Amino acid sequence: MRSQLSRNLLSPLKHQTIPLRPAPTFGFSRFLSSTRKPPHSKTSTKALLAAPTIPFFGAFFSSNHSPVKPADAMSPPDKRSEDEWRAVLNPEQFRILREKGTERAGTGEYDSHYPSKGVYNCAGCDAPLYTADHKFKSGCGWPAYFDSIPGAVTRHVDNTFGMKRTEIVCSNCGGHLGHVFEGEGYPTPTDERHCVNSVSLRFTEDASAAKNPQAKA
Ligand SMILES: [Zn+2]
Repeated sequence: MRSQLSRNLLSPLKHQTIPLRPAPTFGFSRFLSSTRKPPHSKTSTKALLAAPTIPFFGAFFSSNHSPVKPADAMSPPDKRSEDEWRAVLNPEQFRILREKGTERAGTGEYDSHYPSKGVYNCAGCDAPLYTADHKFKSGCGWPAYFDSIPGAVTRHVDNTFGMKRTEIVCSNCGGHLGHVFEGEGYPTPTDERHCVNSVSLRFTEDASAAKNPQAKA
């Protein structure tokens, strides 16, 4: 059992390069918000010590879940008003980013977009959210990422439509991105799927943008 767990944890990591750049402008707690539980809740110490991508072991043991905050606890740095957002977003961007809408499955600009490098920024405030390395083919009809740039995405409980889901928003402006799902069995380092609306994103090949997440905020 132990060896199987280790193999399950480690085998995807051998083939993945996960960019883990601690963002200097984010505090420790925001960095933790991007950490996630391991693919298996019962994880051997041996596997933990061998896993190269885990930033803080303390965070690993403190909780099985990433911090999920109630939506009303949200207080992003970018506090533009509704009118200010309407002035800079097109109607579809406003509907999705500011009113938590969803684009139709399979229609998004980045659904079948797999660049070798680059960064997906928030379409609202331009904060870097995901890198090209985070993206994977999920077949779900929306862009899928197995992780975000540390601290760039905040999670909230979403109880709408009679379901308990985890909403993800841009940490800088609170713009709605989509939802994150765990434990679906995807062969990625996290087995998480950040299911994101293309409309919420703007891709750039300039990977240097990810080095300073709040530079353009
Ligand atoms: Zn944003």
